[in-house]
Amino acid sequence: MNCFREESNEPHFVLVPLAAQGHLIPMVDIGRILAERGVCVRLIITPANADRIKPIIERTKEANLSIEFVELSFPNVKFGLPPGCESVENIPDLSLFRPFFEAIYSLDEPLEAFLGSLERPPDCMITDMCNGWTGPIARKFGIPRVIFHGPSCFYISTDYNLGCHKVYDSVNDENEYVTVPDFPIKLEVTKAQTPGFFNNPLFEDMRKKCLEEESTADGVMINTFLELEQLFIENYEKKIGKRVWTMGPICLYEKDFEMKVGRGNTEAIDQRHRVLTWLNSRDAASVLYISFGSIAFTNPQQLMEIGNALEASNKPFIWVIKKKEMNPEIEKWITAGFEERTKDRGLIIVGWAPQMIILSHPAVGGFITHCGWNSMLEAISMGVPMITWPRFADQFVNEKLVVEFLRIGVSLGVKDTNYGTEDVVLVKSDDVSKAISALMDGGIEATARRQRSKYFSEKAKKAIEEGGSSYINLTDFIHSFSKPEARYQMKNRY
Ligand code: UDP
Repeated sequence: MNCFREESNEPHFVLVPLAAQGHLIPMVDIGRILAERGVCVRLIITPANADRIKPIIERTKEANLSIEFVELSFPNVKFGLPPGCESVENIPDLSLFRPFFEAIYSLDEPLEAFLGSLERPPDCMITDMCNGWTGPIARKFGIPRVIFHGPSCFYISTDYNLGCHKVYDSVNDENEYVTVPDFPIKLEVTKAQTPGFFNNPLFEDMRKKCLEEESTADGVMINTFLELEQLFIENYEKKIGKRVWTMGPICLYEKDFEMKVGRGNTEAIDQRHRVLTWLNSRDAASVLYISFGSIAFTNPQQLMEIGNALEASNKPFIWVIKKKEMNPEIEKWITAGFEERTKDRGLIIVGWAPQMIILSHPAVGGFITHCGWNSMLEAISMGVPMITWPRFADQFVNEKLVVEFLRIGVSLGVKDTNYGTEDVVLVKSDDVSKAISALMDGGIEATARRQRSKYFSEKAKKAIEEGGSSYINLTDFIHSFSKPEARYQMKNRY
């Protein structure tokens, strides 16, 4: 039983997230936020992903929120994917990326059938930027469509400006620095560091489709806030000529401890007491947290370099190692000495960590991150300065925002895109140690960095409070797609 109020006159929005943790987590949060503000929400999901967030789904029912999680079965077998592989981070090898996205694109028929079965069509579709396949369906039913962008606006605007000016058409060396045209600040990037999404000849058709569908959308929603990225938000809004609703940091809306623990994956529920007890025994801002999101892979040699730096730093740490990284070689290395030598000050989490619980604890004073935007925004929200180690997609550009513009991060200086499957050590333990020292050991620069982090955290919290910039945007967003005349105008544009 769900609590969706079929008969109500309240606005009705359908949300179509991309099946990847970094995209699904914020979209589930958006669904809850909208439902709390009186919108009837339907969120499209697949069975394995729904299973992973079961406690969150249960609690939305307990809270009597008008939100239905609509499960569309995922065609694993048809596309040669292993059972349960319904999210990007579970794709076992690179050759299965294309079949995975084909499986996603094949959800168009079941989604169309579902929407066709509804008595009352949705007033708005919020669809992930990577879900170009949803455009024709929204058009068929006359549903206004808003694109949800997962990365920072700094990145989105960079990518947009580079694309509009076809900058890379005349660049042969992908490590050559180019200046981003029409950008509010001088920003230099390389082609190698701005791979974006679907940046592979194999995905050219999907990339084109997403760009086309973005250009005809009714607006854009971004998980950021005005006080953090005003220059870039205004620049982007002007360029695309349509409304940009910034309504983040989305991670801050959830106040309930158990809901924060259950974000993304039930696995973290088992860790919560151990982690909290451990953190409660530490001094304020003394702990370093190390996690590289849901997708990036770190090979055993590279993990050992990180471990050696953590040991040399003498700082308390929480280190997240993914299950898929925990092979016999690294397990042996950890149990044969590392664990014993650091047992008084180190906590290793194998698998999914309750990241929001960790970052929001006052004992946490630094974060080594892969620069996924959710992770960065979570750290910004909590006033935690960062050590940056981007891997792919939008992450190198997010790093530039945090290190060069906001000046709340220390870069490890990684230049190359790295999917983690390559058997290389990109960062030596000495370099990690130096960055840890720069971030955690005090001094004028570190203190100023920490103060700036606190400043943005306060702004972030204000942005989502009643009267704050994101709160106002959210209200405006709901109103824009609630009024019958707005719906009529949008429909007639197609
Ligand atoms: N996350 C988490 N526990 C983990 C790993 C990741 O809760 O052990 C969450 C993290 O808080 C963030 C999301 O997963 O909300 C990862 O998104 P991000 O954009 O940082 O990186 P991606 O996984 O997309 O590369």
